[in-house]
Amino acid sequence: MITILVVEDEESVLDTLALNLQEEGHQVLTAKDGEQALELVRTKKPDLMILDIMLPKLDGLAVCRIVRKDPEVSHIPIIMLTARGTQGDKMVGLDSGADDYITKPFGLGEFLARVRAVLRRAPGRIVTAQMISSGDLQVDVAARRAYRGNDELKLSHKEFDLLVELMRNEGAVLSRDLILSRVWGYDYYGDSRTVDVHIRWLRQKIEEDASNPKHIITVRGIGYRFES
Ligand code: CA
Repeated sequence: MITILVVEDEESVLDTLALNLQEEGHQVLTAKDGEQALELVRTKKPDLMILDIMLPKLDGLAVCRIVRKDPEVSHIPIIMLTARGTQGDKMVGLDSGADDYITKPFGLGEFLARVRAVLRRAPGRIVTAQMISSGDLQVDVAARRAYRGNDELKLSHKEFDLLVELMRNEGAVLSRDLILSRVWGYDYYGDSRTVDVHIRWLRQKIEEDASNPKHIITVRGIGYRFES
């Protein structure tokens, strides 16, 4: 069974979301402020977190950043909720490490569809976090080994982490900043060209033809997307 933590201080919204997720067959945990959310995420390790941005004690963006820095729970997907809907806020949400973002007010149908999409995108995280395969590529996360067909790939530490991050989010566009923060860490002080350089090296190792990549696709002006 999938466990979902819903964090929202508005009781009517919290109850509605919790009830609907339960009807979908999920186990639901609830928190009404940022501190309680952090405690639950660390002790219960849910499969997904629904996180409102406007929260007492510690806001949702702060909670998200702390979760992403904690290796015990950093893999947990997060869907952010907010009343603000500008593109700038959306980027703030995604850059803080959220997997998806829903602007209030939203319909329950849309909400549940987003939940299903994030859970579907994260099967590697939820079912078997140790082995990820896609097309001719296979990664043994625990052993830190990667293969193309029968050949083991010689990847550097960062190339390996980058490949895992891309493969775990197959089909989704990851911005350079998001990749930078997830692979290099939030404390890393560098620019997004670091990502481009490592992508180039990684392509030379995993692609049949690095000048015509089939796995790591450049999404102009945003970042990269992994395709099988
Ligand atoms: Ca709120």
